[in-house]
Amino acid sequence: MEADSKPKKSGARLCCVCNQNRAALKRPKTLEQEEIHQVILENQLFKPGERIAIGASGGKDSTVLAYVLSELNRRHNYGLDLFLLSVDEGITGYRDDSLETVKRNELQYGLPLKIVSYKDLYGWTMDEIVKMIGLKNNCTFCGVFRRQALDRGAALLKVDKVATGHNADDIAETVLLNILRGDIASFNSEFINIRFSLWLMLGCQNLNKFSTYAYFKKLDYFSTECIYSPNAYRGFAREFIKDLERIRPRAILDIIKSGEDFRISTTTKMPEQGTCERCGYISSQKWCKACVLLEGLNRGLPKLGIGRNQGLNSDGKKDRKRDSRTPSIESKQCGSLEF
Ligand code: SF4
Repeated sequence: MEADSKPKKSGARLCCVCNQNRAALKRPKTLEQEEIHQVILENQLFKPGERIAIGASGGKDSTVLAYVLSELNRRHNYGLDLFLLSVDEGITGYRDDSLETVKRNELQYGLPLKIVSYKDLYGWTMDEIVKMIGLKNNCTFCGVFRRQALDRGAALLKVDKVATGHNADDIAETVLLNILRGDIASFNSEFINIRFSLWLMLGCQNLNKFSTYAYFKKLDYFSTECIYSPNAYRGFAREFIKDLERIRPRAILDIIKSGEDFRISTTTKMPEQGTCERCGYISSQKWCKACVLLEGLNRGLPKLGIGRNQGLNSDGKKDRKRDSRTPSIESKQCGSLEF
């Protein structure tokens, strides 16, 4: 904000921080500008010396996160080692272009970049998967593979935490979708709780505010939607939430609050977590969801792992028990939720 000796007089609301210029952003909850630094301190999200990977897709959410974290780290001496971590799904005309943006961000913010690709990790690109399975369920493959790819990238970078940037609209949709799918395991996992904490950093801005922030800061981001993003189910949830917001502007924040406060009865039986016998990844089944999907692809039976109750035992037969680690939070189009 530019310093000005006299407060400006106008009918518009002034910025609550400098009390001089017109406010550029309005926080829906308190109508004040988001204080991300305070949220980080209050929630003790980071410790000095930690290595943090920032999930970077080149989209506006992750670009804003990378900018804000690197800026706060410098300004407030957090003492963090920050990295950019990108996943290359192998989608020609989409991810190859967005990764060019991330490569520019690497130079702009001075953060080392690591890219992990589906081709290297799984032997398949999304282009090849879509060629085999068509445009139905492609986001399920992509979401499951991405979750694991991020974890594998984080292990390669030896980071303590992965920070992902999401806007409030997307989080509210995800909360609602988890309920609609009966996916209570997602609410109970530590993974989700950690993500909720991180979401808080940026999550109190809705979609338009993110765009506005990125615009005002002249951030370099990529805004094209994935060419394989059909996902009608999420689209319905989005429309429903938008309708609710029209009647009740707080609806989005209230849905997120409900997701954060969601508690499962101690008498509810939850799947036990172990490790995948094939790849060692976290799984409540003998094989993790990624290995099941991969087995289906490699055997030319791509429907093998589709459906929430289907998995494979180590002998390759179908197992009807639920894999609680199936990350429904990622199993969706990335135009709306990038990581
Ligand atoms: Fe993957 Fe997202 Fe594209 Fe779906 S929309 S195929 S999850 S990048």
